[in-house]
Amino acid sequence: MRVFKFGGASVKDAESVKNVGEIIREYSQDDLIVVVSAMGKTTNALEQIMQLYAKQDKSALENQIFDLKNFHFTIINELFEKQNLPVFDKVNNLFQTLSNYCSTNFVGDYDFHYDQIISLGEILSTTIIAEYLKSQSFNATWLDARKTVRTDNRWREGRVNWEVTEVLIQTAVEKAIKNETNIIITQGFLGHTPKGETTTLGREGSDFTASIFAYCLDANDVTIWKDVPGMLNADPKYFDNTELLEKISFREAIELAYFGASVIHPKTIQPLKRKRIPLHIKSFIHPSEQGSVIQESIEYDDHIPSFIFKLDQVLVSLTPKDFSFIVEENLEHIFAYLNQQKIRINLMQNSAVSFSFIVDQSRINLEALVAYFQDDYAVKYNQGLELVTIRHYDEPTINRVTVGKKIILEQRSRQTARLVIG
Ligand code: ASP
Ligand code: MG
Repeated sequence: MRVFKFGGASVKDAESVKNVGEIIREYSQDDLIVVVSAMGKTTNALEQIMQLYAKQDKSALENQIFDLKNFHFTIINELFEKQNLPVFDKVNNLFQTLSNYCSTNFVGDYDFHYDQIISLGEILSTTIIAEYLKSQSFNATWLDARKTVRTDNRWREGRVNWEVTEVLIQTAVEKAIKNETNIIITQGFLGHTPKGETTTLGREGSDFTASIFAYCLDANDVTIWKDVPGMLNADPKYFDNTELLEKISFREAIELAYFGASVIHPKTIQPLKRKRIPLHIKSFIHPSEQGSVIQESIEYDDHIPSFIFKLDQVLVSLTPKDFSFIVEENLEHIFAYLNQQKIRINLMQNSAVSFSFIVDQSRINLEALVAYFQDDYAVKYNQGLELVTIRHYDEPTINRVTVGKKIILEQRSRQTARLVIG
């Protein structure tokens, strides 16, 4: 059993769906679980629909749904020659479900409705792709992840119940294989509560779904098909001459994801590491190229330094007004506030009389923070900074990112250098 994951960019139009079909054909002698995200930018479009539904802006809602329906129909018109195939009714019915849902009055929990609406993106994409593969004479079947991935009832970030999920996935997949299918198409990002209501696993959560299926089925490997050649040592947006990390360890991948490398969803690695299931990252544009593999051995980790950039950072410093030392009591007070405000610290440092931390500008309300702390602390902040993390650094790599810039704060451990640059 192998698990494949195709993200939104790999199924953004009819041409891309055909390309996915060609990739699957290369591997169709194996049993395959194919996890698919919503097509193109569908999830963002559904988020807007959700907002309009909450605002009860009926006419804007209608327009948005109309556009999204057009987008999907353009794809199926190009994929299927005959208009009387069941896929047209299926897609039409899903849009009818969406319209009906949005025509009700908005009451209750926003996040609950969010999951019910947003999940349609993956239902649409997998319905279309399963039908397309069948039309190309694959032994393909559609599997409902809303009946196999069991979560708790935390909307928008359901937490997986592994024991129940394992049984549900194994039973469903065994049944499908007994029915002579070897290609199982299912939705990334979706789950269900014990009561059967739909949940989602957090934005970009489809990678994690691939890892859940692989874990529960003891798969041989997972392949995430992307629009990049594999795992690169930096984001090409910020860096010329990026290099491919051909082989790195699970441990290294977890570190990179933690510091903000965005190639794979951070939750993806842990379950694979536990069962030592290798994770391939390959290009859907050049599918025969090797790509990267994330696996157990740490042998290759330090061959190429990796760079992770975080922009729009704020450095906040708190100094007790009475100039007392920063001790556990202050830290407890500060952390309680940050935790309660769901502010995630990217880096922190303390001296005798001050505590400083770096956070994403978008995650912090500075006015509220100042108001909260100003009685006890002098609060200073510095905006518009950049945080660079370098794994397996040396002096030349540090110079490469700091030349001509001012280093405001710096931390180094044996493998990792972290620099705040102004
Ligand atoms: N479609 C969802 C999103 O865009 C899940 C995913 O793509 O991984 O967040
Ligand atoms: Mg997506």
